[in-house]
Amino acid sequence: MTEPVLEVRDLKKHFPVRTGLLQRAGGTVFAVDGVSFSIGHGETLALVGESGCGKSTVGRTVLRLIEPTAGEIRVGGSDITKLSKAELRPFRRQMQIIFQDPFSSLDPRMSAGDIVAEPLRVHGIAKGGEVKKQVAALFDRVGLRKAQMDNYPHQFSGGQRQRIGIARALALQPKLIVGDEPVSALDVSIQAQVLNLMLDLQKEMGLAYLFISHNLAVVEHISHRIAVMYLGRIVEYTDKKTLFTRALHPYTEQLLLAVPVPDPRVKRQKRVLQGDVPSPVNPPSGCHFHTRCPYAVDRCRAESPALREVRPGQMVACHLR
Ligand code: SF4
Repeated sequence: MTEPVLEVRDLKKHFPVRTGLLQRAGGTVFAVDGVSFSIGHGETLALVGESGCGKSTVGRTVLRLIEPTAGEIRVGGSDITKLSKAELRPFRRQMQIIFQDPFSSLDPRMSAGDIVAEPLRVHGIAKGGEVKKQVAALFDRVGLRKAQMDNYPHQFSGGQRQRIGIARALALQPKLIVGDEPVSALDVSIQAQVLNLMLDLQKEMGLAYLFISHNLAVVEHISHRIAVMYLGRIVEYTDKKTLFTRALHPYTEQLLLAVPVPDPRVKRQKRVLQGDVPSPVNPPSGCHFHTRCPYAVDRCRAESPALREVRPGQMVACHLR
């Protein structure tokens, strides 16, 4: 059996909170609190949830841009959790990231061609004229013109800048790309173009994506499986079709009710998700969602529900489902 491109087991990332002039320990942010999932070749797993649920921290931790507090990260079957910087280097090539904001993630002083060439030079993949040739091919692959290689980021539109970010991520021929809200900063019409480009590249290169988004409408377009996160934990984990037709977790149900329906004749139930996500510093006891859940009972406040298989292929963390 082929190993998953990425496998994460019981991943935790806790940040100490320091307060006051003397920076005394003032609690812990439980940003990621025991998350497990896997992604196969050519597969997209979407991590969804409201802002502050820990999904971006998961993305950065699996790439070891942030060090995990506990758990295991396996890439192609190899445990990379505790590797040194030098040992991590070959794995870094296999995993790249596309950031949300194409305006701030590109160095404004570098030409677009140099931005895409940088990883090739840093990893010693190509030298001299070969670099330019490879960059030109990458520009072509993401739908940019070779003539644009000498232009600077401010000379591109938002969608084009995200294409530069994708070309840079592709330069090392990775197996996995973490997309951290990669289309959220773009106009809706441009979002579809960038998502279609990502789908084409996936088909062509067998790429795996960890696609992080707060937007279920976007996720529906691109994912195969979906993990819904709430306050550092996965509360529902299943394939796309099941999630959109038979979601079981009360939080997922409410997220789905908030997805806009394009047909004006269809009246969606009024948004029911009340209040904001509670602070991840000292989160609510038991089920973290009990403060906003319309079905909460006493047990929910006392006992944390385990993520368990409720139907074949559908994992849910809820006492009542
Ligand atoms: Fe709601 Fe209780 Fe289920 Fe949590 S465990 S989602 S509070 S019903």
